[in-house]
Amino acid sequence: MGAKVAIIGRPNVGKSTLFNRLVGKRLALVDDTPGVTRDRRPGEARLGDLKFTIVDTAGLEDADDASLEGRMRRQTEEAIAEADVVLFVIDARAGVTPLDAHFASVARKTTTPVVLLANKAEGRAGMPGLYESYSLGLGDPIAFSAEHGEGLADLYDALKPHV
Ligand code: GDP
Ligand code: MG
Repeated sequence: MGAKVAIIGRPNVGKSTLFNRLVGKRLALVDDTPGVTRDRRPGEARLGDLKFTIVDTAGLEDADDASLEGRMRRQTEEAIAEADVVLFVIDARAGVTPLDAHFASVARKTTTPVVLLANKAEGRAGMPGLYESYSLGLGDPIAFSAEHGEGLADLYDALKPHV
């Protein structure tokens, strides 16, 4: 049993796409049946010579606005508590949203290492969001594209000390 890596972030930033990219199967999206909540599903991930268990936090997409924040807080705290390292994902094209900032404040309180991924950063549309994400206080962001597989070498370097 290797290290456990948790993916956290608000809905639609690309968490399941990242999960699928690292697990190499389409497990996460296949399970994203509306109304079916299967939080913290583990998959066996590979990145270069690194092998680790990765956990996608899904199932929040169907929550209404009122319950979303509470559920996200609980799920974020649980995911962080169980993980050896956390991948905090934002959508660099959307920039930093209030929900991102809110959950960054939760993530900042932990001693678990947090890697900040500015996803959807392929091309130039993600540049402003990438720079904005320094304000989250989670260290230097990695310019990433889960869809196009960009930033994997930087992710490897960030994970290597922890897994
Ligand atoms: P989740 O809700 O955080 O699990 O996000 P998903 O993985 O379901 O992705 C949400 C949307 O963002 C989907 O339409 C994805 O195709 C898209 N997406 C994910 N990663 C990228 C990326 O690197 N670049 C772009 N442009 N879109 C992406
Ligand atoms: Mg998802």
